[in-house]
Amino acid sequence: METQLLKGREVVSQINVELRTKISLLKKKGVVPGLAAILIGSDPASKVYINSKENAFKKLNCYTQTFLFNEDADDDEIISLIKKLNKNDKFHGILIQLPLPGKMAVKKILHTVEPSKDVDGFHPYNLGLLLDGDPNFIPCTPNGIIEILKFYKIDTLGKHAVIVGRSNIVGKPMFALLSQNFKMGNSTVTICHTKTKNLKEITLKADILIAAVGVPNLINGSMVKKGVDIIDVGINRVSDNSIKKYKLVGDVFTEDVIGIANSVTPVPGGVGPLTICMLIHNTVKAALNFSSTRGSTG
Ligand code: NAD
Repeated sequence: METQLLKGREVVSQINVELRTKISLLKKKGVVPGLAAILIGSDPASKVYINSKENAFKKLNCYTQTFLFNEDADDDEIISLIKKLNKNDKFHGILIQLPLPGKMAVKKILHTVEPSKDVDGFHPYNLGLLLDGDPNFIPCTPNGIIEILKFYKIDTLGKHAVIVGRSNIVGKPMFALLSQNFKMGNSTVTICHTKTKNLKEITLKADILIAAVGVPNLINGSMVKKGVDIIDVGINRVSDNSIKKYKLVGDVFTEDVIGIANSVTPVPGGVGPLTICMLIHNTVKAALNFSSTRGSTG
């Protein structure tokens, strides 16, 4: 079987056409979509993500500012900044780069973000709306996965989707999306995690397999059935002999599933580009909401 590589950049190009139109419409009203990003500590992967995000925002003429804090910053310092950003009209979205240094009160910090500026969709209010079937901001990675499935015409209706990983940022919102009575939902969904017994038995039954685990090459060819569509969310650094001394691999052993799967997202170049694209999408949405509210009260 020929396995199609589901390339994220092609999906992004199409979404960007629509985003550009919305951004220039906002510009005519004097609104530039703005994102405040808060980066605490020096996690190398987070720095790479923040740089890519800044470049992507600039490319689309959106505004972004990153607020940097040392590892030893305290919760109150961050919470006080978020409260100020909540009131600052220059920023329509606020992003807290995860993971936070171990000692920090992650939930307390995330919950301080005003839901109308929660472009990551991590606030319980937005997660609640998603479960309620009436989402406002959908977490970027799961939303990006839906866009990949839509672009490559991978039907979800009645399919058995297996999600490996139950994090609040990928696995759980992915479950909410695929199980809902949405156009790109209506799947029968199984969610697996560290306590799942006989993972292989379950992954072998997947029509659509989503791996969001953080374990390099966990899913190999013997664990997937012929014709499955695979979304590999994992981004893992493994050492090699290159100048960088590492390479990025997914949670899926890609070479091993080629010839078995109907399609698979490559790592890098699959889901990753969509995550940033959906962050811009959510920021533009927040700016549009802001602009319409300002219009009605001004
Ligand atoms: P996480 O650590 O919060 O969650 C991992 C989940 O995997 C947990 O729910 C855990 O129960 C499950 N798990 C771990 N080992 C397992 C095993 N052996 N068998 C079954 N389940 C297991 O991670 P996360 O934030 O959801 O991220 C997962 C991966 O996706 C990471 O590699 C991360 O870097 C990557 N990621 C990529 C993007 C992107 O834009 N492509 C975005 C977010 C996360």
